Amino acid sequence: MTSSERPLLNRRLAEFGTTIFAEMSALALSTGSINLGQGFPDTDGPEEVREAAVRALREGHGNQYPPGPGVPELRTAIAAHQQRRYGLSYDPDAEVLVTAGATEAIAAALLALLEPGDEVVALEPYYDSYAASIAMAGGTRVPVTLRPDAGAFRLDLDELRAAVTPRTRLLLINTPHNPTGTVLTRAELTAVAELAVERDLLVVTDEVYEHLVYDGAEHIPLATLPGMRERTVTIGSAGKTFSFTGWKVGWVTSTPELVTAVRSAKQFLTYVASGPFQYAVAEALALPDAYFETFRRDMQTKRDILAAGLTEAGFEVYDTTGTYFITTDIRPLGETDGFAFCRSLPERAGVVAIPNAVFYDHREAGAPFVRFAFCKRAEVLKEAAERLRQLS
Ligand SMILES: *Cc1c(COP(=O)(O)O)cnc(C)c1O
Repeated sequence: MTSSERPLLNRRLAEFGTTIFAEMSALALSTGSINLGQGFPDTDGPEEVREAAVRALREGHGNQYPPGPGVPELRTAIAAHQQRRYGLSYDPDAEVLVTAGATEAIAAALLALLEPGDEVVALEPYYDSYAASIAMAGGTRVPVTLRPDAGAFRLDLDELRAAVTPRTRLLLINTPHNPTGTVLTRAELTAVAELAVERDLLVVTDEVYEHLVYDGAEHIPLATLPGMRERTVTIGSAGKTFSFTGWKVGWVTSTPELVTAVRSAKQFLTYVASGPFQYAVAEALALPDAYFETFRRDMQTKRDILAAGLTEAGFEVYDTTGTYFITTDIRPLGETDGFAFCRSLPERAGVVAIPNAVFYDHREAGAPFVRFAFCKRAEVLKEAAERLRQLS
């Protein structure tokens, strides 16, 4: 085949077209709809944190390449945060790596830790970068589907166990879980940990919503469970915790060996990123507990506004105990196809949402589910709820 006959996009990425977010955001603009599709806040984070970034820029902190592993101030602040919140101790020099958001941390971890053909067991529905990152690393994804059970999405522990084969290299876990809003329980996480120890698997755990848990639910980092610290790569991010998703400051905490491996891939992706923002995030992580508690409570109130509106509009609303998102079932509205529903929703009600099927390999398992983001101002959520009432 000549190069003109050969597809430009390689085989590893061929299945990943433009993300649904581009299509839905364009639809939101062209129809004047309220965009509850993509998960980003419509208000910025704390003023003092924004000012810290301005100060860093003015004072010339981070305007040139920062150190590869991240600026020492931020690595120290990340280690202190893990210690203070969870009693996990990490050496800021050897066990912490700053990345260009959690997205780069996930990609670098998979690129570093997988050989071609290695299997990755991941919770389905997936955050949208997982499948592409596994593919870029030459791995094979093996989904374990979270299913509704008594009003929330839960992990079937037998299915998880059955998904592990001799080719499995790692488990890719996400809690609090996007898009279902589920927070894995201690029992579920203990089963994950026991399986990882028994089968000697690595675990990559995406905990970017660690501070957004509701109704008294507890976020339990996998690394705190027996036998896990030495096999777990924990990923965090400032984007979701401080409402600065454009800053792209994320991090990895793990053993020196695992951090060194992830850094080997990361250094050839971005090398470094977000210099001045790293200083600002170091200050943000040291904010008093009151910041985190108020932020959590505000987000819970937003969840309540949107959940009530969706219930009134006739959706089945699953319990959201974490994240920015509510997953709904559209079948009570007489609908079965989330794609068709989301494409028509802007015309019908002036609201944009995301069909969960895009986050599944088993598309049919996700067909009736639709995700709404509630990380928006209360008045925006109230207006969206008002508009959605037209559906019932
Ligand atoms: C938003 C999000 C990310 C990406 O975080 P960045 O720091 O913006 O790269 C990763 N994982 C999940 C589950 C997310 O929702």
